[in-house]
Formats: sequence, C-alpha cells, structure tokens
Amino acid sequence: MPDKNREIVNVEIPSKALRIQHAMCPQGHSLMCADHPINGYASVCVRVTCRDEEGLIYLDPIYGSFCNVTEIDVQEKELVEFFCPTCRISLTSSHQVCQECGAPMFELALPRGGVVSGCLRNGCHFHLLKLADGIQLLNSLDEDPIWDSFL
Ligand SMILES: [Zn+2]
Ligand SMILES: [Zn+2]
Repeated sequence: MPDKNREIVNVEIPSKALRIQHAMCPQGHSLMCADHPINGYASVCVRVTCRDEEGLIYLDPIYGSFCNVTEIDVQEKELVEFFCPTCRISLTSSHQVCQECGAPMFELALPRGGVVSGCLRNGCHFHLLKLADGIQLLNSLDEDPIWDSFL
C-alpha cells in the first residue's frame, strides 16, 4: 500500500557510484568483511545455501556491481538462500519478490532504516536500494559527502 503521506522520488545516479558500507542482518550484526575485499573495499559476507551445500558468499559492496565470490558451486539460474553468518537468521525478504524473474529476494539492513535487496536467483541481477529518512537525505544534499552516512 503506498503511503499517502510520502512521495516516492526516483534519483538517477552514475552506475557503480554507491558503495554499501554498513550492511547488517535484521538483528544488527555487521555483515561487512574487511578480510575479503572486493575491488579494494570490504565485502558483504553472508552464509549461502544451495540444495545440500552451504558456504560463505562475499558480495561486491559496489551497488550494481557483481564481482561476488562464492565458496560453493551454484549453477546459473539456481536459487540460493542467504543467512546471517553470526546468528543464522534468514535474510530472505518476507514481502518482496524479484520483479524480473519472480524469485525470492534477500534484504540487508542499512543505517537509518535503509534497505538493499536483490534477487536470490544466481545470474539474475535485479536489485533495489531504498534509502530511508528522506527528509534528512534532502537536507544533506548540499553536504559533502552526500551519501556515505546512508550506506
Ligand atoms: Zn545476525
Ligand atoms: Zn530475479
């Protein structure tokens, strides 16, 4: 249900200009992993399961880039599931499915109530970023750096 008290504003930004810096599980455990950098930055580490296999996946922290590193072999188009490596809570979204292929999506919490989500089908690159607290974001548009505290 759209909230009548809020407007949705779409902002176009250059590809790969945003970097996830503080992803968390719903219980607040940090998912950032400085020990496995991707493109020179701390990756987002989650536990991945596919059929009977289980391992870690290091997600590219650059939003819109997919240089992910997976410990287990996942076939193209296969569905996976993500869990918090610390508390093992499922990161599958309870209310979103992929708008391109209909698969379940994962959801990672960002600071200030933002959410980054993506398709759980291997090879489908559908993803969404929702930065919450729009008023603060608007107020900070003339600050530098604009986005960092929301990611
Ligand atoms: Zn957790
Ligand atoms: Zn998909």
